[in-house]
Amino acid sequence: MKVFINPGHDINLDSGAVNPVYGTRECDVARDAGKMLACYLETAGCDVRTLQDDDLGLVCSEANSWGADIFVSLHCNAFNTEARGTETLYKSFNGQRLANDIQSQIIRSINTVDRGVKKRDDLWVLNGTDATAVLVEMAFIDNEEDHTMLTNDLDTIVRAIARGITDYAGGI
Ligand SMILES: [Zn+2]
Repeated sequence: MKVFINPGHDINLDSGAVNPVYGTRECDVARDAGKMLACYLETAGCDVRTLQDDDLGLVCSEANSWGADIFVSLHCNAFNTEARGTETLYKSFNGQRLANDIQSQIIRSINTVDRGVKKRDDLWVLNGTDATAVLVEMAFIDNEEDHTMLTNDLDTIVRAIARGITDYAGGI
């Protein structure tokens, strides 16, 4: 099973959302989550590649030329500092199944708000990849409680994502 991990945004070019109080950057949380996820998936026997880059066309073409089976993009949400919770976005039929497996593992693992899985037709990485693709919005980086969760329990979230992926892989 080849899993391509895309931590969202770009360390140098695009921070993504930033927590207004602590300055925590989405790109750094996503990078850390991507490293942990790669480690867990390799331990589970998956082939893993990771690319975090501002150029999403490049990200998609790398995943496609490698022949990824699964593509997982890792992000943090931000809205109005009040909204919180976890959601997983998909486009394809199989993407929905993978999204369900990941979302339910996260909800079972940590005390987050379940915002569910959502179909999205407007996301680069879901439109441009041949693999079964999802984008995980792990939590709201601008919300106090979610920020604490991302800071203290990122490993718990990531392990749940890894289990969701292996649940999906075991079912195909
Ligand atoms: Zn993002």
